[in-house]
Amino acid sequence: MFTQYLPTNYQHIALVDGIGITIKRIDQVHPYISGNKWYKLKYNLLEAKRLGYTHLLSFGGAYSNHIYALAHAAKEYGFACIGIIRGEELADKPLNPTLTKAQELGMDLQFISRQEYRSKHTPEFMSKLQTHYPSAYIIPEGGTNALAIKGCKEILSKHDQNNYDVIVCAVGTGGTFSGLINASSEQQKLLGFAALKGDFLTAEVQKWTDKDKQNWTIYEDDMFAGYGKFNDKLLNFIANIKAQYDLPLEPIYTGKAFYRLLAMIEQGKIAADSQILFIHTGGLQAFLPY
Ligand SMILES: *Cc1c(COP(=O)(O)O)cnc(C)c1O
Repeated sequence: MFTQYLPTNYQHIALVDGIGITIKRIDQVHPYISGNKWYKLKYNLLEAKRLGYTHLLSFGGAYSNHIYALAHAAKEYGFACIGIIRGEELADKPLNPTLTKAQELGMDLQFISRQEYRSKHTPEFMSKLQTHYPSAYIIPEGGTNALAIKGCKEILSKHDQNNYDVIVCAVGTGGTFSGLINASSEQQKLLGFAALKGDFLTAEVQKWTDKDKQNWTIYEDDMFAGYGKFNDKLLNFIANIKAQYDLPLEPIYTGKAFYRLLAMIEQGKIAADSQILFIHTGGLQAFLPY
């Protein structure tokens, strides 16, 4: 279980000014359980099996890459699964492709109000949920917990630890970035670009990472008006990167992170002779033609 996966490809991009970026295409780690979500689920599924749970339960918005990956993982590894989805108004509407696929794979979709969704990690809500679904192994929103971070530590190989000066990654809950930090070697510098507004991320990542690791920074300056928001400038950028380098990005996480990385390089904020490794965390499922 979760032992076999495709070898990870590296894609090298030479920018005009002589700087190169290597992209670690973990988006290709599995055709459906893509990118960082594969690493985040790995030890959670093993733990759920070990503890004898028959169901997996987690939370997400209507376009959630985590929900999509979870539905596929549950099906592939023999669990039933429940998705608690934000927005009760969605229950009466046609499902979008992400949720349609999740439901086809057997996920039981439960829509709850935005207000209730906000309280989903309170002890009261959790215990109600566990009572209602006694055979469900509950995974937090976005999949971030200690086992997820253990899995994300495996994103960086020995080769990556020894050959790159700068590691770059999009940040949502901070779980993936925390795993990368814990795996990094001291002389490496890690740059995380936040996909959401808010200044809680640095504290969150501090919680999950080795205290002696100071080699990382999260950039929370928001260039695109908030989580899930994007404009034509960003979409054009993504289209150009695809056309120029055959590198597919999406506008929620990887597109914004790559945009901000190139901006930093342009501004001379990254030494020109740096070996840069960009982690392609996936997320293309919501942006592919179905
Ligand atoms: C979920 C996701 C992230 C964020 O990962 P966290 O561990 O929550 O920070 C980044 N990129 C993509 C493509 C994602 O789907």
